[in-house]
Amino acid sequence: MRKKLIVANWKLNGNWAFNEVMMSELSLGLKEVQWHDREIILCPPAIYLQQLNGLMSDLPILFGGQDVSEQFFGAYTGEISGQMLKEFGCRYTLVGHSERRVRHQEKNELVALKAKTALASGLIPIICVGETLDERDSGKMNAVIQQQIQSVIDCLKSDIIDVVFAYEPIWAIGTGLTAKVDQAQEAHEFIRGVLKNYGELCAEKVSILYGGSVKADNAQDLLEMPDIDGLLVGGSSLISAEFLAICLSRLNSK
Ligand code: PEP
Repeated sequence: MRKKLIVANWKLNGNWAFNEVMMSELSLGLKEVQWHDREIILCPPAIYLQQLNGLMSDLPILFGGQDVSEQFFGAYTGEISGQMLKEFGCRYTLVGHSERRVRHQEKNELVALKAKTALASGLIPIICVGETLDERDSGKMNAVIQQQIQSVIDCLKSDIIDVVFAYEPIWAIGTGLTAKVDQAQEAHEFIRGVLKNYGELCAEKVSILYGGSVKADNAQDLLEMPDIDGLLVGGSSLISAEFLAICLSRLNSK
């Protein structure tokens, strides 16, 4: 059975003092929690990984990068490699977040290469896919998502089984607009269908997270959907009470 993954994407937020307060509040809320049905993953700016690792003590939280280079090492100014993230305690890394696809012109092929390098570095890539409002309104949504996933399949081949996807409709990120639960489930079912082309096992094993204005009051409904295996949380992950409530959502076993 797939565990639910709840991923906090802090983006370009946090600082030394904020991180200390946040971790002490999360510690209080998560003290003595023992989970078998979910993983909580924090993706802070990479420069704070070491500080946060030190503050984590016994918290049931794993770490992830927000992005990773497609290169292993060399003359690539400003990049962070998978090995570096690993050395600083990461088990996961986001790749292909829409803010990178849009602001840094990252194309499907580059995103797929980043996922490949992440895997080769011992990280699990969380590959973000999703459509713009224009693409949804003009009926291109499924084709866009299928192409995003197919590029990853073409690059990873049988290793596709070891990745996580995050469906993030771009129109719902940071806008306060959330896809309705049934819209999200429909998109996730479509993605699982695309993965099925690569085999039943692939469709069964690969987790598909939902992201886009997730809050405490919609988290549980989303998590109850059969094809929603977790949440990628931006803004709400910076408010401890909100993020704790999301992490502590009651789960029905599938
Ligand atoms: C995100 O950036 O991945 C995200 C889902 O952000 P928000 O929750 O703020 O919409």
